[in-house]
Order: sequence, then structure tokens, then C-alpha cells
Amino acid sequence: LIHFWKAGVVIIGNEILIGRVLDTNSQKVARALTMMGYEVLEIRKVKDDVDAIAKALKELLYEANVVVTTGGLGPTYDDVTAEALAYALGLPLEINQKARDMIERKVREMRLEMTKERLKMAVMPSTSKPIPNPVGVAPGIYIKFGNKKIFALPGVPAEAEAMLDYVISELENDSLLRRAEACERLENVREADIADIIRKVAKMYPDSYIKTHPGLEGNRPYVKVCVLASDESSEMAHRKAKNILNLIISEVMGA
Ligand code: ATP
Ligand code: MG
Repeated sequence: LIHFWKAGVVIIGNEILIGRVLDTNSQKVARALTMMGYEVLEIRKVKDDVDAIAKALKELLYEANVVVTTGGLGPTYDDVTAEALAYALGLPLEINQKARDMIERKVREMRLEMTKERLKMAVMPSTSKPIPNPVGVAPGIYIKFGNKKIFALPGVPAEAEAMLDYVISELENDSLLRRAEACERLENVREADIADIIRKVAKMYPDSYIKTHPGLEGNRPYVKVCVLASDESSEMAHRKAKNILNLIISEVMGA
């Protein structure tokens, strides 16, 4: 069996735990990590609280090679992610000069004032590398900790998403596997009718993940079949996924 590198995701924000905001960041982050050849072990959602964030981080780092967090990087009193990272990793907090330069440049461009609230966003654990924020002001935080990598991204979905390219480029040479997916909707098919075929094919390709998603259109049943495969490159993984999907389709047609 293929051994994937491991990843964890921590989503930070009271607004998510009280149910006001639906977490969409975890899906984007998990998808990116998965396609980079990582196995996402867990997605945790925690409050804006130093102890809760530090606990999640430490527990996930026990198994994961990479942990990505979103949220809590902003200028307000409840944004405590930098502090939690420092506490969890035993690193002192300091003003990161590169982060400060990034913030000052943004602030000038946007014709805003440099305030102590904005300066707070430059406070990071020592050894942090600030991640440029192409959308907003707060830089992300990248920390290499022994053989582990930790990325803290802002909560604003557009900002978190914009920084995923940076995360991906930092992970490019670690996991050498890539994943790709192929899906197809099979019409007039019920999940139970193809379950046996799916089971058989899944057993033939234990390194791939085959998932059926049943649905109804009017009163006509359909099943969307998705195959997630891995290989040395995205292209090769995609070809593999396609081949497995085609095998399933031909088996279903012949059944
Ligand atoms: P910034 O650094 O840009 O100030 P932040 O790191 O302080 O952001 P938050 O204050 O936690 O981020 O959240 C900013 C906004 O993004 C809020 O409107 C929040 O509801 C939204 N948000 C935060 N986390 C998520 C998430 N996981 N999914 C979707 N929206 C989110
Ligand atoms: Mg917040």
C-alpha cells in the first residue's frame, strides 16, 4: 500500500463554533493537501482561544508532517493564533521585520495609517516566515519546526485561498506523490445495483479511493462515481483515475 504523508487542518473561529459562519476554508485546504499527495488525518474546529488552538496543534503535529490553520491572524483582541503557535511550539514572540515591511507597504498602498493594531499582525513566533497576503493586510505565518511544517493562514476565505499557492509551493518537494480525480454520472442506476462492482474494483485498486454519490433527478435515479488516484504526477494520477472509472463503467454497462 502507498504511504501518504500526513496532514492536519485546524479551523479557528468562535463564529464557526456558534454556527453563524459555515466553515468553507477547510474544504479548500483539505482539497489542496490531498491533491499534493497528503492524507488529511483530521480537520479540527476550535475557538479563538490560546489553549484550545495550542492543544489542537500539538495533537495533530504528533502524527502529521504538515498542519495548516486558518483564522485568528487579524488585528483584533480575539485573534490569538500567533500567540498560540508560540505557546505550542515553545518559541518566543517577536516583531517579524519582513512581516512588518509587508504590512507597512500594504498600509501605504491603501493610504491607511500604521497603528499598533496593524503592527500586532507582524508579531510572530521567532523563526517564522511571513506569507505574503495578495488580498488583505495580515501576512500568513510559515514555521519549519524540526521536520514538521506549519502554515497559519487568515480566516477570510479569499485570503486563505490566495495563500494556498504558497503552501503548495513549499510542499512541492516533500511528498512526491500527486493525486487526481475523475468522476462520471451514471444515469438510471441505483447505488445498490452497482455496489458489488464497486467493491470488486475497489479491492483491485487499494491505493485509490472510489466513492459513489447517489441522487435523484425527478424520479430517475443516478449515481455519480468518483475515483481519486495517486501517482508520480498529476497527469499520471489522472490517467489512472480515468482507467479505473472506465473499468467501472464498462462493468456496469455489461451487468
Ligand atoms: P484577517 O487576518 O484577514 O483579519 P482573521 O485571520 O482575523 O482575518 P477571522 O477574524 O477569524 O480571520 O475571520 C475573518 C472573516 O472570515 C470573518 O468574517 C469570518 O467569519 C470569516 N471566516 C473565518 N474563518 C472561516 C472559515 N473557516 N470559513 C469561512 N469563513 C471564515
Ligand atoms: Mg477570528
